[in-house]
Amino acid sequence: MSEQNFDLVVLGGGSGGYAAALRASELGLSVALVEKDKVGGTCLHRGCIPTKALLHSAEVADVSRESAKYGVNTDFHGIDIAAVTSYREGIVASKYKGLQGLVKARGITTVEGEGKLTSPSTVQVGDTTLKAKNVVLATGSYSRSLPGLEIGGKVITSEHALALDHVPDKVVILGGGVIGVEFASVWKSFGVDVTIVEALPHLVPNEEESISKQFERAFRKRGIAFSLGVRFQGVEQNDDGVVVTLEDGKTFEADLMLVAVGRGPSTAGLGYEEVGVTMDRGFVLTNERLATNVPGVYALGDIVPGLQLAHRSFQHGIFVAEEIAGLKPQVISDVNIPKVTYSDPEVASVGLTEVKAADQYGADKVTSYDYNLAGNGKSHIIGTSGSVKVVRVVDGPVVGVHMIGARVGELIGEAQLAVNWEAYPEDVAPLIHAHPTQNEALGEAMLALAGKPLHAM
Ligand SMILES: Cc1cc2nc3c(=O)[nH]c(=O)nc-3n(C[C@H](O)[C@H](O)[C@H](O)COP(=O)(O)OP(=O)(O)OC[C@H]3O[C@@H](n4cnc5c(N)ncnc54)[C@H](O)[C@@H]3O)c2cc1C
Repeated sequence: MSEQNFDLVVLGGGSGGYAAALRASELGLSVALVEKDKVGGTCLHRGCIPTKALLHSAEVADVSRESAKYGVNTDFHGIDIAAVTSYREGIVASKYKGLQGLVKARGITTVEGEGKLTSPSTVQVGDTTLKAKNVVLATGSYSRSLPGLEIGGKVITSEHALALDHVPDKVVILGGGVIGVEFASVWKSFGVDVTIVEALPHLVPNEEESISKQFERAFRKRGIAFSLGVRFQGVEQNDDGVVVTLEDGKTFEADLMLVAVGRGPSTAGLGYEEVGVTMDRGFVLTNERLATNVPGVYALGDIVPGLQLAHRSFQHGIFVAEEIAGLKPQVISDVNIPKVTYSDPEVASVGLTEVKAADQYGADKVTSYDYNLAGNGKSHIIGTSGSVKVVRVVDGPVVGVHMIGARVGELIGEAQLAVNWEAYPEDVAPLIHAHPTQNEALGEAMLALAGKPLHAM
């Protein structure tokens, strides 16, 4: 048995945990970062990065199929999944190497192994006791299933979907949220027959309804099938694949079923309850400053109820490190965290939907402008349709931006700046957007809301 002392012990080295460790070491604290698998966590190894690499391969497949439209003659010979895998793994490996170098360069002590919280100030990893005045819980999340639905065989999660060594012919995807539509988009581009089953009335149901409807039209146009508003009843596996049954009796046959119904907190058996941390259905409850009810113990990222996004975890990590160092950082509210759904088309949003803004400020105090990408030169050139909707308080700031179309995820930077800076459209309107860019669509919406539309009515 050995004991080591630090200013801070971080349990879990994913986006949130390593961000906390990096910032704390920058602020002069001695830090131990405990990780049972690989530093970088879900996002780097099984989430954000590998799936975006897959989506890029998917985009290249679509571009090569449609290249004649742009006067370029190519022959599309199909998907070489081994080559896609080596491209994807190469990206992850290089980012992983960079991250390991950064963690080392900051003087952080990385402790490999499964850690357990044993008191408000100790984490046990094998024979080693790590002791610190402050402990940060950052153990992340896992792919959830539905009650009674067992994962295994041809019923898979996103981790298995990433690791597939072949392109299936036909899949059913259970769940039309971000992860479900992302895989639907990739597989369709790879030539797979895809059906999404979503119990709620819309795909990407957490977005503005008008955006969800446009998204559904775009997916329909791409030949991606979906069933909305009917719940999943069960799945049977046989030698050929799966038969999926819905509560209305409809059945779908496929090679595989991907379960993409959300992510649960990885907190079971880690000592949190025993130490007295207040939990709710496996999630760790914190105040707005990410402190748990146990003094000195903080929690962040996917185990804290709210949006499960890597950039929220990064920001949580920075926040907690600064809080512990006594810098009194500004509280992060979930509503103003930007969200991007990566697929073809993309969806990007930040802030309030128009309905929620009306609830908050009163219907007569809220107005919006919906700029159609048909009027945007760059969008026309790259062949995308879609829209950029800006919601503002009358005579007040921009409180929401909701976008759909190819590449609109890249526009979220300016949108989140406007919302978080509480900019008025009148502040943004005189600022110049380069031509021709898709970014101009945001500029046009701001101009229109400031009462001086240019390429719009
Ligand atoms: C398919 C997919 C695609 C995604 N795409 C995006 C995207 O494009 N953009 C985005 O913002 N988000 C995306 N996400 C979500 C994002 O990955 C998570 O929100 C983010 O990783 C959460 O960070 P975290 O630090 O809270 O947890 P995690 O990244 O899950 O890290 C937790 C870490 O803790 C370790 N750990 C757990 N228990 C212990 C223990 N007892 N001892 C030691 N170590 C432990 C784990 O091994 C893990 O490395 C995606 C997720 C998935 C699954």
